[in-house]
Amino acid sequence: MVIQIKLAVQAAGNLPAEIEPVRAPNSSSITPIKLKKNRSSRNVDRSRRLRHTLLEYNTDYLTLISANTAMTEKLSAYKLVRSQTVFDHPWVRIVQDLLEYEGKLFPYFYLASPVEAVATVGLTAQGEIILTRQYRHPIGQVIYDLPAGRLEPGEDPLAGARREFEEETGFYPRQIEQLGYYNQFPGTLRAATNLFFAHDLQATHQHLDPGEFLDVVLKPVSEVKEMILSGKIIDGSLQLGVLLALQKGLL
Ligand SMILES: [Mg+2]
Repeated sequence: MVIQIKLAVQAAGNLPAEIEPVRAPNSSSITPIKLKKNRSSRNVDRSRRLRHTLLEYNTDYLTLISANTAMTEKLSAYKLVRSQTVFDHPWVRIVQDLLEYEGKLFPYFYLASPVEAVATVGLTAQGEIILTRQYRHPIGQVIYDLPAGRLEPGEDPLAGARREFEEETGFYPRQIEQLGYYNQFPGTLRAATNLFFAHDLQATHQHLDPGEFLDVVLKPVSEVKEMILSGKIIDGSLQLGVLLALQKGLL
């Protein structure tokens, strides 16, 4: 129902589902120039040249922003002509849309998850990350991943992350915070994942869903990092969650 309303709004307002924000040019591409306090006539000339350079840069920058904005408007000028749900299940919905762009019609298929996912990097007092290890049928492999799952309809992401973490690992996270939010495959999937970081873990009991079989594995942070960097971990949430937590100084 929510998705149908969203699609109706998109159709009425001619809005795209996702618009990439305009990105400013990389600041590292600007060469810093230091001005000397003691201005000789040579330094004044240099100062004038610098102002001229900055003026040119600002003009280029504004031109670039203007061009990017125009390009973004052009890129997002898709019209939703028709939308049809071709398969509907509480976990999986396949949508077939008909889009119009510059007078041409394009069919578009995508998979929409009715609810978002949560995944949590949990750190023990001994400096270990709590991993889960389970068979993942679409890829036919047993892999390491994070304690994770789908939110219940209307469930708060943080509460859902806490629930999934305790159900799968048997540890209740007394401390938990948002770590990130991402879409792994925005071209064909509408299935966002909320990432969390948890610590101060209290041992309780595991409550696995019927048909859910997994091992809980504790590994030192350094070992998990090495497994990610050497390509031994292929789960996207596990890679991104641990690297984000490392980058933010949480691990
Ligand atoms: Mg799970």
